[in-house]
Parts: sequence; C-alpha cells; structure tokens
Amino acid sequence: MPIPPDTDRLDRFLLPQAGVRGVRVHLRDAWAPILGSDDYPPAIAATLGQAAAAAALFTANAKVDGRLSVQLRGHGPLSALVTECSADGSLRGLARFDHAAKPPADLRALAGAGAMLAITVENPGRGREPLRYQGLVEIASASLAGAFEGYFAQSEQLPTRLLLAVDAEVCAGLMLQKLPGDAGDDDGWNRASILFDTLRPEELRDWSAQALLQRLFAGESAQLLEGRALHFGCSCSRERVAAVLASLGRDEAMAATEQSGQAEVRCEFCGQRYRFTPAEIDGLFTVPPASIAAPDRLQ
Ligand SMILES: [Zn+2]
Repeated sequence: MPIPPDTDRLDRFLLPQAGVRGVRVHLRDAWAPILGSDDYPPAIAATLGQAAAAAALFTANAKVDGRLSVQLRGHGPLSALVTECSADGSLRGLARFDHAAKPPADLRALAGAGAMLAITVENPGRGREPLRYQGLVEIASASLAGAFEGYFAQSEQLPTRLLLAVDAEVCAGLMLQKLPGDAGDDDGWNRASILFDTLRPEELRDWSAQALLQRLFAGESAQLLEGRALHFGCSCSRERVAAVLASLGRDEAMAATEQSGQAEVRCEFCGQRYRFTPAEIDGLFTVPPASIAAPDRLQ
C-alpha cells in the first residue's frame, strides 16, 4: 500500500455520541532523520518510532507552548531514549543502546528491571525558568503503548487506548481517550474501545485520517477537527553548545581543542557540527558569568 498523502501530520477527532476524543499522528519525512540518527537494531528502532509518535500524540490534549518530551531511562540493552515534539510541530529523538547486545522485542527486557518512563511538558515561564510538569511511570508492559495506557489510567485517571505502528518508512499512532466528565452515552467508551481493537498496525500505516474514521468508526458520526503539520527539527544552536562548553569549566573546554586544534561538538539529534577555536573558548570565560545562559539540558 502507498503511504497516505496526509502524512507528517497530527489530526484530532471526536466521537460525540461515544464521548471519546482521538488523535492520529502519521510521520514519514519527520521520521527518517530520527531513525537515521544512529544505526538502530529493529527492536530499538521500533521503540524509538513508537516514542516519537507518542510524543506528538500527547501534544494534542495537553497545553504545550514549549515542548513535550518522552524519556526512558533503562538498565538493559536500551539505556536511554528521548523524543520531543515542540509547539511549532518540530520533532526530534534518539536512543542510546548497547551495540554489542541483541535487543529483545519485549520492552521490559529491552529496558531492564526498574526502567522508568517520563512524560515532561516544558512551557515558557514568565521568568528565565521554564514551567515544568513531569509524570513518571515504571515500565511494566511488553510495549510502550501498554506502558502509556498504564500511565494515563494511573496519573490522569482517563481511560486511554494507544496503537503505535513503526517500520523503516513510517511511524504512526492512534490514541483514543474518554472525554473527562460524563460526556457521551453509557456504553460509549466500551463501544469505541471494541472498534479500536479491530484496527491493525498496517491499517494505521496505510489509511488516511479520513479513511480511518470512515472505516473504523462508521456509525459513530466521527468529526475530524483541526490538525497541524509536523516536521523534523532540532533546537540545537551555537549559543547552546557554547553554554555547555562554558559549564564544563575553562580547563576541560580547552582540553577538547588539544587533539585537532578545535573543539568539535556534534549534535546527536541532527548531526550538526559546531567547532570552537581556543580563542573562541577563551572568549566564553572572559565575558561576565551572568551573561552566559544556563545550559538547557545537553543542547
Ligand atoms: Zn541538533
């Protein structure tokens, strides 16, 4: 099946009789550079794509003026994973893994015992510090979709269903959520959930948003709401890399120039290289400390 034309998009919809809201995310051009950020074995690539689709899905129902990230800290073959979706629709992500191990498909084995999953929203605050909201969940499911369903049931008390589909070309996600309050008829959530269970990953991959609503929720008078485009984008910049170098301290930052005469920092998300000469590094430590921006995570 060809990839539907409405890819690299997020679309929201409503099942009014059932009292259920939904989001569909479909990524192709936005997925390629994320998948290409390392030589990922299939199980890691699948988890990374699921997390990328999920980060985009979660921006639909949360107030995100800055960015939303999905982060995993593991103790197995998969040691770390981060995907981010910003308010402007830009996505990025990467995973760190043991290159020598053969990664298992089950997420619990892949991430190891005690692995944690975090969903974080960072919105611009009034002062310099962003407003940060974070939800944490321990991974107790074989898949990321199951872990996220558990998260929403536990922390938001909102019945939620998630299907995430990933291959080398596309990653896609569908999320159904019961509307807060008592919207919809008594059987609404149950009915939508049964229909949801009939959807196969390849259908989520191959169908347009319109086709999905017509075929999956025929009889529910589904309403397609406004959506938006998504694209790959990285928030790294020379200023942010300079702030990270400054935070290392002069000796360590200077030591990075010793081998090639320049410090070179490569952004792991997008591959962009930033080079600093010893004189430029020197400059980082001669300006008043107050004017150096605090490092914002890695970059
Ligand atoms: Zn970058």
